[in-house]
Amino acid sequence: MKALTMLSDTPPHFASKLPVGQLYFPKWDRYETAMRGIFERQYYNNNGPLHQELEMRLREFFGVQHVICTGNATFGLMMVAEALGLTGRVLMPSFTFIASAQSLSWCGLIPVFCDIDPQTHQLDPEKVAELLAREKDISAIMAVNLWGGACDMTALEQIAERHNIPVYFDSSHAFGCSVNKRPVGSFGVAEVFSFHATKVFSAAEGGCVTTNDDALAARIRGIRPSYGSEQSAEAYRVLNARMSEAQAAIGLMSLEDYPDIQKRNKSIFDVYMSELSKLGGIRLMLPSNVTASNHQYAVCEVDADIFGLSRDDLISVLQAENVLARRYFYPATHRSAGFDENAEKVAASLPVTEAVCGKCLQLPLGAKTAKEDAHAICEIIAQAQSAAPEIRQNLHGRA
Ligand SMILES: *Cc1c(COP(=O)(O)O)cnc(C)c1O
Repeated sequence: MKALTMLSDTPPHFASKLPVGQLYFPKWDRYETAMRGIFERQYYNNNGPLHQELEMRLREFFGVQHVICTGNATFGLMMVAEALGLTGRVLMPSFTFIASAQSLSWCGLIPVFCDIDPQTHQLDPEKVAELLAREKDISAIMAVNLWGGACDMTALEQIAERHNIPVYFDSSHAFGCSVNKRPVGSFGVAEVFSFHATKVFSAAEGGCVTTNDDALAARIRGIRPSYGSEQSAEAYRVLNARMSEAQAAIGLMSLEDYPDIQKRNKSIFDVYMSELSKLGGIRLMLPSNVTASNHQYAVCEVDADIFGLSRDDLISVLQAENVLARRYFYPATHRSAGFDENAEKVAASLPVTEAVCGKCLQLPLGAKTAKEDAHAICEIIAQAQSAAPEIRQNLHGRA
């Protein structure tokens, strides 16, 4: 193994930059055939044949009554909030991608942040129950399923029912996951998935809402809308959040490839799991509460005291080797622009979120990462640990 780039004048281990999330692309000939079909039909948008087929296949995949495809997950979350007629404040975790909270702002709603479980990083049902007992004007729970795992969705459903409010899930990380063999996608009043390029299932851009509620589905179709599609209810505010035929075509290919993609992701994840478990102070987040995972992301916690380097120092070492590891999620939503009013006071009620934001890092996993790459990344991390004092000296001028 060569010396670390940060501590020597050797070139980076990876000749080109290795991003954290990488889209699996369909083979060119399949893509070309699909695009030719669209061109020949001259049917580009608005509930076209590929769009209908994708919604139908996804209904089977998720085992759910309704799938409403849309331009991205943020639109999906906005449409759910609007279709539920939510008002005022919505409980959600701060430890999520900023779009979760922004979907509320677009609907004039205010997030109330709840803390997470330190073991799983998922929204903690006990803390949700406590917060709801204290705050009386919360109109819904938006939970987020993280890291190819899930929250305790049944516990959250029960709490929501006791308080007579809906719970819905941002399941952007949970495509293809199952809880007790039941696919994620039919929990709560609705779930929302992202088909963005960094997610395991891709339509280049895109997303969908899943629900078993006929009336809610009709309202969402009305908001999206798709002229001529069935069971659509009139909406006051329309979003024009349709998915195009070209996106649906890529989605259909992604769905066909999903079993292979999942296997490949898992084989890389397994390398991280076995190699990182040999090192002290770094913990790979395993998919929680699920019987099947997409292994979409490799996220770990770095405990600086035990590992010997802070998360940020380790990222500097990795980036010098062209591994674009990144802090994730960072900053937490309650410290992000637009949501950071009273940040310090809110932070005091979110001790786990605060701690986790200081130690989480995401490693590459996806189409451009081979198993050997994952081995090499783990080797770099091991070397960094051995050379921790020199690295601290190099970065901070003190060991
Ligand atoms: C990616 C992501 C989103 C947003 O998805 P888009 O399809 O880009 O709108 C929302 N929430 C979480 C947790 C995500 O990871």
